[in-house]
Amino acid sequence: MEIVMAKSLLNANTQIAEGNRSLFDGAGVYVVNLLGSPGAGKTTLLEAMLPGIKERLRPAVIEGDLNTSRDADRIAGIGVPSVQINTGGGCHLDANMVMATLPSIELGEIELLFIENVGNLVCTASFALGEHLRVVVLSVTEGDDKVEKYLSMFRKADAVVLNKADLLPYIDFDVERVRSDLERLGSQAPIFRLSARTGEGLDLFVEWLLGRRAKDHPERARNRSK
Ligand code: MG
Ligand code: ZN
Repeated sequence: MEIVMAKSLLNANTQIAEGNRSLFDGAGVYVVNLLGSPGAGKTTLLEAMLPGIKERLRPAVIEGDLNTSRDADRIAGIGVPSVQINTGGGCHLDANMVMATLPSIELGEIELLFIENVGNLVCTASFALGEHLRVVVLSVTEGDDKVEKYLSMFRKADAVVLNKADLLPYIDFDVERVRSDLERLGSQAPIFRLSARTGEGLDLFVEWLLGRRAKDHPERARNRSK
């Protein structure tokens, strides 16, 4: 019985996510769902990338958080529109929460929307939000066994950011293990070793991300960049 209920909940979520996705597509907004554990560096990654990105495109951010608006305040501090979703203790974002924030975002005025999910490697994987791309941030301090442990999260990832790579010399973290665990899942996701703190490796990831947008939204990317 419970399984059936969980399934219909997810089906309802999928339908709302598809509605969000059509709105995003209609407005030419490319949407990235940013996932990862608490402390993986999702907000720090956004803070590091957005100053460069906003020279080229108009971005915005939806910040998912349990209770605070700290992360949205950090994003607003760099001059990028940000909207906060407080889940009131809820451990993931769902498509309905994203839909509810859309009236506060001028979709016609932006081209790229990041949705920073609640820090969690488990149930966040199950809820589509209407995104085009899923990026999982895994910091090297979390350990190299995470792909093997959180299969669902990593199976659905379009890219894996290995953050805090500047700490690799000081800890035991086997990058090859992450690579081979992803391969075993049948994942084609590229791995980006970077440090959002020092900026090392960041450019490669940003170029890949903007390249994916141009590839998935070719007309929009062309029209808007004029
Ligand atoms: Mg954050
Ligand atoms: Zn949850």
